[in-house]
Formats: sequence, structure tokens, C-alpha cells
Amino acid sequence: MLNSSHSVLINHHSPLTEYATATEILRKMDKPLISRRLVDSNGSLAEAPSGAPNVGILGSGDFARSLATRLVGSGFSVAVGSRNPKRIAGLFPSATQVTSQAEAVVFPEVIFVAMFREHYSSLCGLSDQLASKILVDVSNPTEQEHLQYRESNAEYLASLFPTCTVVKAFNVISAWTLQAGPRDGNRQVPICSDQPEAKRTVSEMARTMGFTPVDMGSLASAREVEAMPLHLLPGWKVPALLALGLFIFFYAYNFIRDVLQPYMQEGKNKFYKLPLSVVNTTLPCVAYVLLSLVYLPGVLAAALQLHRGTKYRRFPDWLDHWLQHRKQIGLLSCFCAALHALYSLGLPLRCSHRYELVNLAIKQVLANKSHLWVEEDVWRMEIYLSMGVLALGTLSLLAITSLPSIANSLNWREFGFVQSTLGFVALVLSTLHTLTYGWTRAFEESCYKFYLPPTFTLTLLVPCVVILAKGLFLLPCFSRRLSKIRRGWEKDGAIKFMLPVDHALAQKTSHV
Ligand code: NAP
Repeated sequence: MLNSSHSVLINHHSPLTEYATATEILRKMDKPLISRRLVDSNGSLAEAPSGAPNVGILGSGDFARSLATRLVGSGFSVAVGSRNPKRIAGLFPSATQVTSQAEAVVFPEVIFVAMFREHYSSLCGLSDQLASKILVDVSNPTEQEHLQYRESNAEYLASLFPTCTVVKAFNVISAWTLQAGPRDGNRQVPICSDQPEAKRTVSEMARTMGFTPVDMGSLASAREVEAMPLHLLPGWKVPALLALGLFIFFYAYNFIRDVLQPYMQEGKNKFYKLPLSVVNTTLPCVAYVLLSLVYLPGVLAAALQLHRGTKYRRFPDWLDHWLQHRKQIGLLSCFCAALHALYSLGLPLRCSHRYELVNLAIKQVLANKSHLWVEEDVWRMEIYLSMGVLALGTLSLLAITSLPSIANSLNWREFGFVQSTLGFVALVLSTLHTLTYGWTRAFEESCYKFYLPPTFTLTLLVPCVVILAKGLFLLPCFSRRLSKIRRGWEKDGAIKFMLPVDHALAQKTSHV
């Protein structure tokens, strides 16, 4: 417990800075961060705490419980205000005071409103007790509410309690993260308010609880902060749809060639191939085309810069978006390639494979052939598998270096080398893998089922364009001009087309 001199020290500060000061003192004294029970035997407030800073919570649901646990663990005295305190008191840590809403807001200067927006108005009876206090709005609207209301929940709360200072915070932190601790979840807590001092107080509280506050400015940003938890993997929608589209296309194509054609023209039932074999021939097609789509926009951007003779003009929006999604497309490519490797390992385990092997062996015996060994096939298979493994290894390296923790440890040149040079190596290895897989089949008439060319020939199209274009840009006439442009040189007349300079966009292609 803090001694009286510390209490005096705290009381000399304004209520808004009391939290920061008290927690700081607790830290410096290295005291166990346990708060004192605030109720006497008949359940009413006994006295204001002298040591730990006081925090109130209105609401006793999942979020309130986790918040109370974390606050108590961080050295705060917590008072929870509920409509039915007796019923839920046992669910809170014993160091928490669970009481009526009116009593819970008496001492704390900071009060968390852990309730849904539709219940805010039920607090209007507490207006007098809440006057001049800090209300922390932790609510998240549903998608429908976000569209329905023009003002954020926090602004709505501020309009109901004009004498209070409303701070928007902690809405991006789940009850689970609060309970498990910030190490196991997202650490960042966006905070916004019209009152800088109140924002500082709540930021210091967040820091004491182990989170990293992020200043989002005034309360007008609350709508943006409230929209954050509504995002579902932003940046992944287009790449995921692209991967799905490619998968459906190649699966249908392989189905027609490998299952439908034998059934219709030869009467063979090969529908058993649908769950594994067709999926396994589809996955590498998707992975390979996706990988080439990571490098195609860079080639297009370079061609555009060469054509325009300047880097100071914006790319078209579609190209800009494409450039921004390269990481996600690359990761999806790696994912499909990894699945392909796993599926391939499963191929020999299939019953159909064993039957085919035995039938082949019987055929050999009946034909009186004792030694089946086709040198060309043996070599082709060895090279084909080796290229595949190398390509997957390189792709995995790219995926690992795109993780923020790894990417942050690399300088710009190292990152550029891995993502650009090694990425291109992965594309070349994948092309060799595909070519050795296809071998001469592109030129065999029997491989054109229903007049459809073998699938691998289709997949080669975009990657070959990318590799050829990259090779072309290595020629001195193009590479010199391109590097001049990327260092700021402009051809005569390029200036008259110039829009406002966008250096960030220009730099995006500097390592292509
Ligand atoms: P909850 O479990 O349903 O709790 C809501 C609480 O509101 C109830 O326990 C109730 O406490 C109180 N309340 C006060 N007046 C009420 C009334 N008129 N009708 C009904 N309830 C009333 O919800 P929650 O999950 O804790 O979420 C609370 C707030 O935190 C929400 O705004 C939510 O968006 C936000 N949030 C939640 C999470 C999460 O992971 N759960 C994460 C971030 C933000 P009493 O019955 O004791 O009065």
C-alpha cells in the first residue's frame, strides 16, 4: 500500500493526471499491484482508495469482466456498476467492487462504458454524478449500425453527456485479449478524444495495462476507429477472389480433360479423381499463375515508365491497386504450392495408384518384359521433382520474409533482393518445373483432349511473358534508360503530362 505522503502527492495533481502519477509510483515502489476492496460489510462504499487509482466500469458483461480483471492486475481499484450487482458479483475478481451504477461512478474520474449503444440513454439518470468525468467508450457497432448511424457511438455518448469528456478506446481489443494479456493478442489501442489531457490519461492507463496507445486525434475519428474491427482481412478480398477464380477455371478445365473426356469418348469412369488427383493438378496451375501475377504489374509499370519517359506520373488506379496487392497474391501462391506438395506426397497412398502399379506389373509379366526403365523418363522426373522442391523452398523464403517481424529486421536493399530477385528466381524455377513436367506433351496429338491443349501449356503463358519482358529490360538500351528514369531523369516533353508528384508511387517500382 502507498503511504500517506504518496496520497498527498496524488491529491495535489489534477484528477486527469492522477492515474499516470499513481501507476508510475506503484511501478517505482515495486509493490504488488493489488487493489484494495472498497466495500464494507453492508456492501456500500466504505471510502475512496488512497493508493491505487480508481476506475469505474458501467456494465457487467464479457468485456467488463475481462477489463476488470486486467485493470485489477495492473494496479487499479475497480468499481463495477451493474443493474443487478448481487447476481453477477461472483463473476468478478474479489478485489473488484461490484455495486449499483450510481455508487460505482462516485469516486472514479475515468469510467468505462462497457455497454451497447442502445443502452446508453438508460444512463441519463446518472448525468449529475458523471459531470466532468472521463467516459471511455469501448463499443463496437455492428456493420448494420455502422451504416445506419452517421455519428459514431462515441459521438452519440458525448451528445448524451455534454458535461463529460468522451474518449474512444479499447474497442479493437477483444475480451479474450484483455483476459489473456496483450502479448497474446494485438497490442495497439487506437485512442481519440477532443480533450488531449483525457486522451493522455487513458493512453497512460493503456500503457500500464501493457498495450500500446495510438493517438488517432479528435473524437471525429471515432467512426474510423469503430470501423476497424469491422474489417475482415482488408487487402485480401481481391487476391482471394482471384485465386478462387483461377482455381475454379483450372479445376473445370482439368475435369473436362481428365475425367469427362475419358468417360464420354472411352467409357472409362475416372470420377474417383475428383477429390485428390484433379485438385492436385489444379493447385500448381493456380500457384504458378498467381506467382507470375506478382511480377506482371512490375513489368507493366516499368514499360509504362519507359514509354512515358518519367517516373513522376501516377499509374492508372487498376495498376496501382495491383501493385499494392502483390504481397497477398504471393502468399496465396505459396499456400497453393505448399498444398500441391502435400497432395503430391499423398498420391502413392491412394488405392487407385496401387492397383495401377499392380496392373502394370501384370502387363509386363504377360508381355514377358522383365526390366522396365525408360532413361528419359527417369531423368525428366528427377529434374522435375528437384525444380519443384527448389521453387517451393524459395517461395517459402519469400513468404517468411514478408512477415512483419522478419521484414522489419531487413534493410530496404535486403528486402528488395529477397522479394524481387529471389522471387524472380522462384518464378524461373517454377517454369522449369512446369516445362519438365510437360516435356514433349505439348507436341503430341493424343494430349489434345476435346481439342483442348494440356493444362500446363495454358499456365506457361503469363509467366513466359513476364520472364521475357524481364530479360528484355536487362538489355543495356532499356536498363540504362530505366535506371535514369528512376533516378529522376525525364525525357523532353514528359513534364507537360505531369500530375502532382507522387514519390511513393514512383518508388514502388524502383526495385522491379
Ligand atoms: P454483454 O456481455 O452483453 O454486456 C453488456 C452489459 O451491458 C450487460 O452485462 C449489462 O450489465 C449492461 N447493461 C446496462 N444497461 C443495460 C440495458 N438496458 N440492457 C441490457 N444490458 C445493459 O456485452 P459485452 O460483450 O460485454 O460488450 C459490451 C460493450 O463492449 C459493447 O459495446 C461491445 O461492442 C464492446 N466490446 C466488446 C468486446 C468483446 O470482446 N466482448 C470487444 C470490444 C468491445 P448489467 O446487467 O450488469 O447492467
